[in-house]
Amino acid sequence: MTLSATLQRELVFLVAWMLFMLTIGAVLGVALPALFAALVLYILWHLHNLNRLVQWLNKPSKNTPEAIGIWDEAFFKLHNQHLRQRKSRKKLTKVLKRFQRSTKAMPFATVVLDSNNVIEWFNPASKALFSFRSRLDIGQRIDNLIRQPEFIKYLSKKDFTKSLEFDNQQKKISLNITEYGNGQYLLSASDITQRTKLDEMRRNFISNASHELRTPITVMSGYIEMLQKNINESNRFPVEKISQQTIRMEKIISELIELAKLEATVSIDKYENLDMTRLLTEVFNEAIALDQNKHTLLSDIEDIKITGVYEEIRIVISNLLTNAIRYTPEGGEIILSTSKDDDGYYIHVKDNGIGIGYEHIARLTERFYRVDEGRSREKGGTGLGLAIVKQILDHHDAILTINSQPGKGSQFTCFFPARDN
Ligand code: ADP
Repeated sequence: MTLSATLQRELVFLVAWMLFMLTIGAVLGVALPALFAALVLYILWHLHNLNRLVQWLNKPSKNTPEAIGIWDEAFFKLHNQHLRQRKSRKKLTKVLKRFQRSTKAMPFATVVLDSNNVIEWFNPASKALFSFRSRLDIGQRIDNLIRQPEFIKYLSKKDFTKSLEFDNQQKKISLNITEYGNGQYLLSASDITQRTKLDEMRRNFISNASHELRTPITVMSGYIEMLQKNINESNRFPVEKISQQTIRMEKIISELIELAKLEATVSIDKYENLDMTRLLTEVFNEAIALDQNKHTLLSDIEDIKITGVYEEIRIVISNLLTNAIRYTPEGGEIILSTSKDDDGYYIHVKDNGIGIGYEHIARLTERFYRVDEGRSREKGGTGLGLAIVKQILDHHDAILTINSQPGKGSQFTCFFPARDN
């Protein structure tokens, strides 16, 4: 055991004090009582300092009691610690005030909840959005104030990885919850009523316009077919062109309608366990037929467990394979494969075709976004295929990742997280 320098000094002092008292006692012929008195005095001195320490701890002030020896050091250390604590408390209060000031100014509602969903604090925007009352609602459970079943379910599930959109008091609300600190939660929410309405209007417009265009185009293509049957040589070329463009328009319109339909469905009502081996084999065989031996098509399919809508997943894989065929020069190789790990299941469509520049990748799933418009048209593309793919994967909580290098090829991967049930 090593003794600290202060304790060593204290022991030296104690020994010197005892020797001093013993010497005086010996001179006076009362050595033992003097030794006893020395000990009592020593203990009394410590008790006195202990009392001062307790008093100071009860009401710490800037000045610590004056003392000597081991007590001087103890008081000095306590004093320093006290100052440090005051400083960090001040800093913390400042940070908290700054946080409250900034969240007060924020346009979206911010609510601090404890681990039992009790409201500890909220900003003024929360009053407007949830009609919280300043003083009355602090200390209330939030699920007593927002009584929407979707919200209560979301809160009790305690899985806040995704945000929640729900209707509350004639408003559409988007809400996020983040866990922080010691089991506390930060809830942030905003009013998306207007945005949702605009989105719906846009969707309805596209859907209505597509439906309206469908009939005249069907009529036109009927007449073009008629014309093609008894056509003279001089008109063959323009009629052929009109026919091609009408087919293209029909394709764009039916894909726009498909996209609008997918957008209108928020989530799938009925998940079924899909026979993925059958689905992938079917789509792969269709791709072989479409390809007409222009590429080497390979498949490496193992049994993967995906739940969802058969027809929709079929569209996804079919679109990815059609793209691979379209954007891979003749003689190239296209591989359809699957894999799995602890997180879930993967479907990969890989080609060694023209590839895609890095700057385009993030935008490929936008409607009508094409790297090379001319090439897409020439190959019969509409620019809507990957937008449909993304929409369907969103429905299935799945993610599309694209790895590609110009001149080397691309790999499109659909990742389906493993489901608990
Ligand atoms: P499109 O009907 O034009 O193929 P998509 O939405 O399916 O529309 O694809 C968007 C664009 O992404 C395409 O125009 C093309 O530029 C690019 N693309 C898609 N798949 C591939 C691929 N396998 N290789 C290279 N480019 C691709």
